[in-house]
Amino acid sequence: MKVMVLNAGSSSIKYQIFDMRDSSVLTSGLLEQIGEASSRLKYKWTNGEGKTKEAVEEGCVADHSEGLKLILDITLKLGVIHDLNELAGIGHRVVHGGEAFWKPTLIVDKVVDAVRGMIPLAPLHNPANLIGIEVSRQLCPAVPQVAVFDTAFHQTMPPHAYHYALPYNFYKELRVRRYGFHGTSHHYVAKQCAIYLGKPLSSCNLVTLHLGNGTSTAAIKDGESIDTSMGMTPLEGLVMGTRCGDLDPSIPFYLARSTGKSYDEIEKILNKESGLKGICGYNDMREVERLAAGGNAPAKLAIEMFCYRIKKYIGAYYAAIGSLDAIIFTGGIGENSNVIRKESCAGLQNLGIAIDEAKNHVRASKITDISASSSKIKVIIVPTNEELEIAQQTVECIKTSEAK
Ligand code: AMP
Repeated sequence: MKVMVLNAGSSSIKYQIFDMRDSSVLTSGLLEQIGEASSRLKYKWTNGEGKTKEAVEEGCVADHSEGLKLILDITLKLGVIHDLNELAGIGHRVVHGGEAFWKPTLIVDKVVDAVRGMIPLAPLHNPANLIGIEVSRQLCPAVPQVAVFDTAFHQTMPPHAYHYALPYNFYKELRVRRYGFHGTSHHYVAKQCAIYLGKPLSSCNLVTLHLGNGTSTAAIKDGESIDTSMGMTPLEGLVMGTRCGDLDPSIPFYLARSTGKSYDEIEKILNKESGLKGICGYNDMREVERLAAGGNAPAKLAIEMFCYRIKKYIGAYYAAIGSLDAIIFTGGIGENSNVIRKESCAGLQNLGIAIDEAKNHVRASKITDISASSSKIKVIIVPTNEELEIAQQTVECIKTSEAK
């Protein structure tokens, strides 16, 4: 059974095709700069002898429709599939599912309309996700398509966690509340951790830390998300590559008054010029660590702030959950940076959380337990795989809807 996963951005399409018998990736690729003369598709595939090959196609791809057609043509030429209908399903990453979507959903016209209705909540992401859905429904009309929402896993948050202390009408009329994101990743690593711990997910209490260019953490009680650091948008919470995370809400007003900048300009600064980049000029953690190791004071400060915010959330979520089985590090930084893991957990021994320095010295490509033997709570690196999670959820959703 072959399943395609699509992640459409405003000028890009990222894709993978899985063989679901063994979860292997048959082909993957990224088409960038759609609509420009310099469009570029970089793709990989496994040939008949099991070797991974790579190629690049350059030239103008006018729009997403042309882009997906190119991807499908290449996939057919490579023999990854011989007919589009060989795809058992296509899973689409959709950023915002609002309160309407708690789980992956088979795409029919009214689902498309509902996703369109979420555009005011995710104006940067949902329009691009929708284009991906529409184009792929046109090109593969006989293949079942499933929307997998970044927000869905966090829909189990109780009202006291998802409400903001604002006039209630803003929630009723404008849907202002916390939704949370990275749900596919938090869910995937939680399930993997449950397997590792040898317990059902429904009896696991976890704090998951997704630390990539975007960063978020989730409090998972009895297998369900009860709180998460991102809010109505992905701007709230931890310090990120270029996003500020938690902020006194008065600051944008103060900045508008004192700099004369518009709210749009300030929103852009909070999203694109803040976080690690705002503090030390770089958003790539490898570069920040390199500078900090050489004594660069802004880079050291950026790392201290990044880890201090993580530590505060670990404490808060421990209190919210009441007891913990494990803390999970994932994402490009969580999987690779021993410095960030060590600093984030430093001084938490009295909470029963301690890392073994030697075990922590890894860039983990598989589940790795880095807890000290004295640690009551396990600290585990679990590499994330959002694409595989989307593919698995796509299969489950199609099976469930066929059974109805
Ligand atoms: P992601 O968004 O999950 O792809 O993660 C991207 C982030 O992971 C960037 O900030 C990278 O600098 C960071 N990253 C990747 N490899 C390493 C590494 N070896 N050490 C520190 N950070 C890393």
